Amino acid sequence: MSKKQFKAESKRMLDLMINSIYTNREIFLREIISNASDAIDKRYYEEAKSGKTGLSRENFEIRIEPNKDDRTLTISDNGIGMSAEELEENLGIIAKSGSLGFKTENEEAAKDTDIIGQFGVGFYSAFMVAKHIEVTSRKLGEEQAHVWISDGADGYSVEDGSRDEVGTTVQLTLRDDTEDDKYDEFLEEYRLRSLVTKYSDYIRYPIVMNVEKSKMKEASEEEKAKEDYQPEYETYREDERLNSMVPIWKKKKSEITAEEYNEFYKSKFFDWNDPLKVIHTNVEGVISYDALLFIPSQVPFNYYTKDFKKGLQLYSSGVMIMDHCEDLLPDYFSFVKGLVDSPDLSLNISREMLQQDRQLKAIAQRLEKKISSTLLEMQEKDRESYDKMFEAFGMQLKYGVYDQYGVHKDKLKDFIEFYSSTTDELATFKEYVSRMRDDQKYIYYATGESKEKIAKMPQMDLFKEKGYEVLYCTDEIDEFALKILQNYDDKEFKSISDKDLGFEMSDEEKKAQEEKQEEAKDVLTAVKEALGDKVASVILSTRLKDHPVCFASGDGLSLEMEKVLKAQAE
Ligand code: ADP
Ligand code: MG
Repeated sequence: MSKKQFKAESKRMLDLMINSIYTNREIFLREIISNASDAIDKRYYEEAKSGKTGLSRENFEIRIEPNKDDRTLTISDNGIGMSAEELEENLGIIAKSGSLGFKTENEEAAKDTDIIGQFGVGFYSAFMVAKHIEVTSRKLGEEQAHVWISDGADGYSVEDGSRDEVGTTVQLTLRDDTEDDKYDEFLEEYRLRSLVTKYSDYIRYPIVMNVEKSKMKEASEEEKAKEDYQPEYETYREDERLNSMVPIWKKKKSEITAEEYNEFYKSKFFDWNDPLKVIHTNVEGVISYDALLFIPSQVPFNYYTKDFKKGLQLYSSGVMIMDHCEDLLPDYFSFVKGLVDSPDLSLNISREMLQQDRQLKAIAQRLEKKISSTLLEMQEKDRESYDKMFEAFGMQLKYGVYDQYGVHKDKLKDFIEFYSSTTDELATFKEYVSRMRDDQKYIYYATGESKEKIAKMPQMDLFKEKGYEVLYCTDEIDEFALKILQNYDDKEFKSISDKDLGFEMSDEEKKAQEEKQEEAKDVLTAVKEALGDKVASVILSTRLKDHPVCFASGDGLSLEMEKVLKAQAE
């Protein structure tokens, strides 16, 4: 029996494909623009290879033209163009990528260019917004142009066409608006402009649109001097480049000013304030990537809410793939903003996701190390900024210590800081330990609503007298984090409300205390009887100086922690 070819019902295939691979129809513009950019790359490469003096880099352009009257959106390029056969093959066969073919045939080109295409499906995403597409193309070296025409599902035709210059024009006739679906937006200048900046800002060739602008009308000095002078405005049209072309992270670090970084951060990540710190790395190796990260100086308003989305932007060779790639940041560094650009990602077919996350994991690990070392360096050399960071995001770092029973605690312990009884500054554990008294066994902490309230606790008297520093725990998470950490530098954490404070007492002191306890027996029993079940026991305290009484907790949880747990249970 002879072997038969599978025949796909192309109409259904196309529907199925478009609807199943893309979740977001606005990406169609990214796909068409990426193809145009690939085509220009190929022309540039071919002409350079054959030594022909073709267009120089500046003469290349991708042009976007909306036309509201006939509801068309046209994207044209002066790239390599397609012959009639190429129109058939590249646009007539789903999943055939001329660009992938080009890369495999020209290994050198793969290195020198930034060709984006590989799956051979991007073009069809245009059918998400278009009911009719005409692609007019004239191939480099040919006189005759051809036009590929399709209404999507019913197939296509290729005919002779005309085009003055080499290149390709893709004309989309947008679908009709319905109640639920509006396509008009893709004819609006502001919308097209924002799509270009969002997805295609770093395409290496200019993306141009003729846009409407307005300016003040010239007026004579005489007129301006009049009391009721009102400036008049006139509108005019002008070509404008929409993309920034060169990503700031691809520039040499020495050529980027702090100002530039700050402006980029503020416009890209919607912050009014300059970042506290910029981390810019370019890594070449088994896996290559550029990363540009920012530590914000202020807490985003929704940071400690469910609405906050962590993640870095992910670019593949300058084209944005994902807005918030969560896997690139651990939760405890979720406050870091920025982006990663890598040519080495294996993208999934819709380019909205990744095929597998091995490379991503490797990048994430390296970024984490980089963020850690940068923060610790900041702590050492620019303490003021570090403390500012900690005031803003320290809570998240403390949650990080506590998270998953402390799997990250060793990595994070040196990031943690507390206010304390000895200085007005934030203190690290290391600093605390260096200030410990010779006879001091534990790292002491006190919990309370505020630094001021803790400072007034009766228990503090004794610590002041002994000269022991006490860390102030004022966030709910604080004590949980310390309990998980257990110790720092082999010194255990101990609450100043603990029954046993671990103070050394001489034999005489012990004896004197026992005697006192015996003497006060009657008073203590009377107090215990009066309070009944409200307290577990009433004992003579060794820790009070200026205050008559204090509460102490039994073993385990401190009073504050009990309060938190109780509040959570309610
Ligand atoms: P991919 O870009 O992944 O290869 P597409 O479906 O986006 O897949 O495009 C299919 C092929 O059509 C491309 O590989 C390219 O060969 C050809 N093509 C698309 N647009 C253009 C264009 N503007 N100029 C020249 N060739 C193009
Ligand atoms: Mg493509």
